[in-house]
Amino acid sequence: MAQPAQHDNGSRPPVLPRRIDTVVIGGGQAGLVTGYHLSRAGVPFVIVDASERIGDAWRKRWDSLKLFTPARFNSLPGLPFPGPGPAFVGKDAMADYLESYAAELELPVHLGVRVRRLSRVGSDLLVETTAGDVVAGNVVVAMANSQVPWVPSFARNLDPAIRSLHSATYRDPSQLQEGPVLVVGAGNSGAELALEVAAQHRTFMSGKESGHIPFRIDSPVARHFLIHIVRFVGHHVLTVRTPIGRRLRPKLIASAAPLIRVRPKDLEAAGVERVPRVIGMRFGSPELEDGRVLDVANVLWCTGYRPGFTWIDLPVLGEREQPLHERGIVPGEPGLYFVGLHFLYAQTSETVTGVGRDARRVVRHLVRRRPAPAGAPDVPVSRRDGASAPRVPAG
Ligand SMILES: Cc1cc2nc3c(=O)[nH]c(=O)nc-3n(C[C@H](O)[C@H](O)[C@H](O)COP(=O)(O)OP(=O)(O)OC[C@H]3O[C@@H](n4cnc5c(N)ncnc54)[C@H](O)[C@@H]3O)c2cc1C
Repeated sequence: MAQPAQHDNGSRPPVLPRRIDTVVIGGGQAGLVTGYHLSRAGVPFVIVDASERIGDAWRKRWDSLKLFTPARFNSLPGLPFPGPGPAFVGKDAMADYLESYAAELELPVHLGVRVRRLSRVGSDLLVETTAGDVVAGNVVVAMANSQVPWVPSFARNLDPAIRSLHSATYRDPSQLQEGPVLVVGAGNSGAELALEVAAQHRTFMSGKESGHIPFRIDSPVARHFLIHIVRFVGHHVLTVRTPIGRRLRPKLIASAAPLIRVRPKDLEAAGVERVPRVIGMRFGSPELEDGRVLDVANVLWCTGYRPGFTWIDLPVLGEREQPLHERGIVPGEPGLYFVGLHFLYAQTSETVTGVGRDARRVVRHLVRRRPAPAGAPDVPVSRRDGASAPRVPAG
């Protein structure tokens, strides 16, 4: 069984074991649900997370953010998400749910602990953290591969008098100064923030969106009917096990998602002016592909994130720091796993809807490679997701 929750809130230094079976890095939804499955399988583990409070990844997003998944799809195994199923809740409700999840399930989360380096020592893995080193037989890197805000290199040439914010640090329009705003990036973050700031500022939005879903997700027919179809396709059809999933996966990973809540006509109605890509800075102001230089007082970079896995000192990262894995299992590095990556198995893998299934499979694999406790019978367990039976029974 897992040890009782140890939520280090800064009042005392986190006490990590020096050696343990499994370390889960990341205490967001991916790490917590991995903890749930490890706990059920009886694997000794700890979860470490750099943030001060469980749910901070959600809590620190912009204030008006509402989830695009309705409450009925936001539950992790072991605790239902509160509230009416069709409701689209705000980001703080998701953060609070994750905090209750860790508390209710007594998951051993150590907060305020950042992993600085992950390397191998013999057949074990060495996790070097801000609270000391831990040797583990298994490590699950449980987080979305979007940890570090990314801006183009020319952003550094922006005139310092222009307020510059990434969507990761934007909270509300009060952070902007008087005058026009350029939103760089036309994905979901860009479109939502452009719509918000356009109420008070002349707003330009640069870039081309990758389409939009053909219905309003807030409409009754979408909430009660269409959303189930979208979820079914993302969870069961667009997976690495179907030909269409394998064909579309590289494109879905590389390109921005279609607009989900905001539609192009909403932007038009709000007066957002669409402009071409920003290609650099001229005299400190953004220069567009068509040669225009925009005189703006604020730039909001909605240009996405990079994985932020440079602390993994093992040959497991491919192009652009993307982990090389097979459904979260790293073939050349026994004991190393990933959960929470974009399209790890299915289009829903990064979302709260899909991450639990991936975590369950990874934990089954992890359990199978542990030495069986002396005298334990080889317990056959049903084969779900193509996984074979763990030797330690769940429950
Ligand atoms: C703007 C936005 C809106 C989204 N909306 C939805 C939605 O509506 N529905 C949905 O299902 N999904 C949504 N997602 C996708 C996804 O659900 C979220 O990104 C979610 O936060 C991913 O959870 P995670 O646990 O995989 O990773 P994260 O939430 O990123 O958590 C990772 C954790 O790991 C910790 N960490 C990172 N590096 C280290 C380290 N070196 N050492 C220790 N700890 C570390 C971080 O502190 C963090 O707490 C959205 C994503 C974004 C960006």
